[in-house]
Amino acid sequence: MSQQYVGAIDQGTTSTRFMIFDHDGREVARHQIEHEQILPAAGWVEHDPVEIWTNTQAVLQGGLETAGLGAADLAAIGITNQRETTVVWDRRTGRPYTNAIVWQDTRTDKIAAALVEDGHGETIRRKAGLPPAAYFSAGKIQWILENVDGVREDAEAGHAIFGNTDTWLIWWLTGGPGAATDTGGPWAAKGTEGLHVTDVTNAGRTMLMDLESLAWDDELIALFDIPVQMLPEIRSSSEVYGHTLIDGPLGGEVPVAGDLGDQHAALFGQACFEPGTLKNTYGTGNFLVLNTGHEIVRSDNGLLTTMGYQLGGQPPVYALEGSIAVTGSAIQWLRDQLGIISDAAETEELAGSVEDSGGVSFVPAFSGLFAPHWRPDARGAIVGLSRFNTKAHLARAALEAICHQSRDVVAAMVEDAGLELAALEAAGLKVDGGVTANALCMQIQADILGVDVSKPVVAETTCLGAAYAAGLAVGFWSGTDELAANWAEADRWRPLWDDAQREAAQAQWRKAVERSLGWIEAS
Ligand code: ADP
Repeated sequence: MSQQYVGAIDQGTTSTRFMIFDHDGREVARHQIEHEQILPAAGWVEHDPVEIWTNTQAVLQGGLETAGLGAADLAAIGITNQRETTVVWDRRTGRPYTNAIVWQDTRTDKIAAALVEDGHGETIRRKAGLPPAAYFSAGKIQWILENVDGVREDAEAGHAIFGNTDTWLIWWLTGGPGAATDTGGPWAAKGTEGLHVTDVTNAGRTMLMDLESLAWDDELIALFDIPVQMLPEIRSSSEVYGHTLIDGPLGGEVPVAGDLGDQHAALFGQACFEPGTLKNTYGTGNFLVLNTGHEIVRSDNGLLTTMGYQLGGQPPVYALEGSIAVTGSAIQWLRDQLGIISDAAETEELAGSVEDSGGVSFVPAFSGLFAPHWRPDARGAIVGLSRFNTKAHLARAALEAICHQSRDVVAAMVEDAGLELAALEAAGLKVDGGVTANALCMQIQADILGVDVSKPVVAETTCLGAAYAAGLAVGFWSGTDELAANWAEADRWRPLWDDAQREAAQAQWRKAVERSLGWIEAS
């Protein structure tokens, strides 16, 4: 193959980036642009889909320029995206009916609550693997159908279509509105209409896809009263969906061949291909995803059952997911609200200046506790203080909190999946994200978990995962074995605590979590 590179678009919550990788999975270039966070009302979060498409074109061009490459050098491109964020647009023009409703947006709380009240929670859980929540796309589509003029009529007529940002971008990249109409102005495009497709990992976050059949489910669709023709075709995560346009932003026809939601892409980029392998992404919050192989594992511990990935016609790989609301953002809180550090990285030296947290535990339940507790009535607590404590103890307690919360999710996963800890011990916990720059925090994680913590050389696992999916589809890589061989470790932290130390630390953490519960009236 003459092409030596694969590209990946990461359409994230705060920015859109394009990265180019070589055959060894090494970064060759990147270009990134932030987009506006539109906050029209309390709890509402929106993005402008047109800005996202404009930025995508710019990062594609910028990435190629930085690398000094052209479309002919790319074997394929893949896409990974912020999940659940909902765009509805007019396929005749490409014009969105309204801003994208972002995954964080809670305006559809009532839609989710009504489904639970009407007794539909179990059906959604059983079929889609998800608890009814404002987080997922279906309620957001329903809200747009009910609240934006003309959308329902256009949807019934087949004009208004839905997509997450992966679908939105693939549609534009492969044709946009095409020759269907020529409206002039910025909405016009030439050629045939773009592809209206998504992959199983994104479709699996709508509450509309049946995890077993990997198809839109009539009963679920009916619960949200969504015209089925609005929904994209569900494809695997790795296959050639179509090609970019010659006169598009890459300036050439490149196969668009990978599509994965961001956390799924990170699982893939971390080469977690075997059942029992697990990755933990440490950002503002944490996302843990465990590969459960071809088995759909239902959680008794508040975890989500979700897709891992699907490669072409192969059987799908499933996963369990646990998210933690506040991890890295607790470090930001120390910096911005308390002012005890001026930079997140300072926590390493400060927390390292003391042996332990001096009896202090910090439960950063600022917005309640997510997995595995799911206690909206919890609030943040700093307990165990004595006159002797300093900001160094508090910084250390904050790092410990990140690790204890992660351990709680891992424990839930081990229980749900009936895993032997040995499987995890063999592979170690694969980590990525901003907080992993903190070596002390990673050591504390190994100590608290009792399992090795392992960080790859290529930290951009999300983009890499999307590139891998695309490259596999066109034969740029031969298979997952080759990808696993690409995965190289940069750092490894081994547990230094004995069992007694680990148990004592856990007991103190459990007591602290107890103190944080029931602090407010749950709504
Ligand atoms: P996101 O993708 O969620 O925006 P990132 O992966 O960029 O997050 O990580 C950013 C988070 O990591 C911030 O919350 C910041 O406080 C935290 N962080 C960054 N560097 C460090 C560090 N050296 N020690 C502890 N926390 C850090």
